[in-house]
Formats: sequence, C-alpha cells, structure tokens
Amino acid sequence: MTRIDIPEGSLFGLDNLPYGVFSVGDSAPRVGVRVGDSVVDLAAALGEDVFARPSLNAFMAQGHQWWVQVRERITALVGGEVPEAAVFAVEEVTMHLPVEVGDYVDFYASEHHASNLGRLFRPNAEPLMPNWKHLPVGYHGRAGTVVVSGTDIVRPCGQRKAPDEDTPSFGACRRLDIEAELGFLVGTGSPLGAGIGTGEFATHVFGAVLVNDWSARDIQAWEYVPLGPFLGKSFATSISPWVVPLLALEAARVPTPVQDPAPLPHLRDTEPWGLDIELSVAWNEQEVAQPPYREMYWSPAQMLAHMTSNGASTRTGDLYASGTISGPDKRQRGAFIELTWGGAEPVTVDGEQRSFLLDGDTVAITATAPTGTGRLGFGEVRGRVLPAEGDGAAPIR
Ligand code: MN
Repeated sequence: MTRIDIPEGSLFGLDNLPYGVFSVGDSAPRVGVRVGDSVVDLAAALGEDVFARPSLNAFMAQGHQWWVQVRERITALVGGEVPEAAVFAVEEVTMHLPVEVGDYVDFYASEHHASNLGRLFRPNAEPLMPNWKHLPVGYHGRAGTVVVSGTDIVRPCGQRKAPDEDTPSFGACRRLDIEAELGFLVGTGSPLGAGIGTGEFATHVFGAVLVNDWSARDIQAWEYVPLGPFLGKSFATSISPWVVPLLALEAARVPTPVQDPAPLPHLRDTEPWGLDIELSVAWNEQEVAQPPYREMYWSPAQMLAHMTSNGASTRTGDLYASGTISGPDKRQRGAFIELTWGGAEPVTVDGEQRSFLLDGDTVAITATAPTGTGRLGFGEVRGRVLPAEGDGAAPIR
C-alpha cells in the first residue's frame, strides 16, 4: 500500500478528482482519477468492473446517486492508503478520449463573442440577431471528429471566397482559428418526447471538459448562410482528457449576467448555473487571452433545456459546448478572429505579428475554478497544426 502525495497548491487536490481514460505502455485503456501528479486506476483500486472500460460511458450511465457515492469512496480511498499497483505517475500514462461521444452540439452563448462576430461577419447589420436573447443559439456538430488533447490537427481544405475574389476556389484554409470553450457531458440521457428542465441539469450532466473548436474562418464565411457552420468546423474539435465532475464545481457557481428580456418560463434557471471559471489561451506557449466563463449569457442548464425542449432525446456521452468564451476586454477574447479583429490588429507571437494559425503552431487552453479553499484545474486541451494534405491543391481522391 502507498500514500499519494499531493503537492501544496496542486490544482488536482481532493476537491477536484477528475476522471479520465488512461493506459500505460501496451496496457488496455481504462478509467482513472487524477490526484496531485498521480493517476489512480479505479478498477484496481475500487474493484468495480465499470472502470475497466475504455470510456467513462458505462460509469456515467449509472446515474447521479452513483456518481456521488463513488466520489465519496474515492475521497476516502486517496486520503488513506492505496494499493501500489493502482498508482501511476502522470508522466508515465497516455491519456485517451475520455468518452464515446454521442451527439455533439455547439452553442454560441457569449454575448461578447456573438456581438464581435456579428460585427466582423456582417459589418452593416445589427450584431445580434433578434432571436439571440430569447434562446441559446446552437448547431449540430460532428461527434466523430471530436479528438483528445494532443492530437495533431491537419489544416483543412475547402472552398473559400474572399470578399475581393469573384469566384470561389478550393484549397488549404487561409484563416485557421481556435475557439476556447467549455464542454458539458451528458451522463444520463432522456427519452424522446421528454425535455430536461433547467432544474434537472445536475442529475443529467456528469461533468465538464475544455474544448477547442478549431475553425476555418474563410471556409465558414463562404458556406454558413443560410444553414450555419458546416465544413469550417467539422474537421476537428479537441477536448481535454480530464472530466471535472459537476460535483467539484459547487464553489464555482455564480449567477449568469442579467438576462433582459427575461427568458420564457421553460428556459428560466431555477438556481444559478453560471460558472466562475478562468481560462487561459497560449499560442506557441505564450499566453494571449484570459477568457472568463462567468461572463457567459446563457447557463449550461439553459442550453440543455433548450436542446431538449422540442422533445429531442439525449444519450450518455452526448457533448455540448458553450461556444467561444469572450469577456468585455480585448484580452478576454477566446478566438483569434476577435482578438485580432479579423487580422486588423495582430498580436505579437514569437516576435512576429500574427492573426491566424500557421503550420507548426501549437495552441493550449487551460482553466481553473475556485473550490472554496483553493483552486482546481481542468488540465489542458492542446493541439498542433500540421500542413494541409496534398498542399490543398486538389481534393484527395
Ligand atoms: Mn464554437
């Protein structure tokens, strides 16, 4: 047996306990919990088969009462002695996609982001559409291209037509961007025909991850009217490997900004589900933005209520993301198109003036939240840009 040492000020103390899927060497991927700089193999430590799986889905499907009970058991376990064979150093493990992703939806819940993008994409119109303050706007993304942090991102090809070009051309994206977001994982789903009320959020949603919604702005600008984002988004979405349980975010809960006009009754929050989470965006290891999640206009409980208000069912492993997190200040913008105002106000990275991503660039998003006594961490979502396949000259046949 061994005791797990938790370094002073660790973002992975006993009040965090995020879940992930890990392997060591050639061993089969299985569920672990992070404590300090260690990963505890839960199948080995708790003797529960549900953790000897390559995803969190089976555990998440067991439901809220079980999540609470397991968290109590883990807290007791790692506060005492743990079988030595169940403990690994975080440097020796490989992290995998933590869940088998069901459906994937991306929202657009930051008023600052939506207003900025409105001004950039439609300079001569009202920045916010008339529906924006009445419902959380979203679109269905591509679940099959959700990848775990560390996965390289191949620059997408697609149709682009710049405003000064007469006709579109096919080629490598010229305005590759990021979107720093928070993602929520549905643990227990809901049947067809039954919505999930805002008050039922915490019994359905298991936890949260960091999301980088890679975005090809030139492809997006040409394709998005009238049906919304498509190939400009679907080539890849990265998520962090550690799922922070909603149960660890109690001290981070805050009211959303004032919602005026008041939402319709079915979208009213019965309790506060804004979250005081601070993000940081690093471009080639240099911090360029600090997006504040507490500024998000719509809460994740409202997003889930809206998403199911037509009777659409949900399943274990469904992922919905918040949309780009941006605050009122320039340094709080979670997408480069906003941060650099469409390229008009570049930022200095590696001593150069930069607006969009170049091949070889790396982006890492991290986040922390208050716990009452300190802070907890989400780990990071990281990705590196690789050159377009075939140099973007022609579609791959
Ligand atoms: Mn997005």
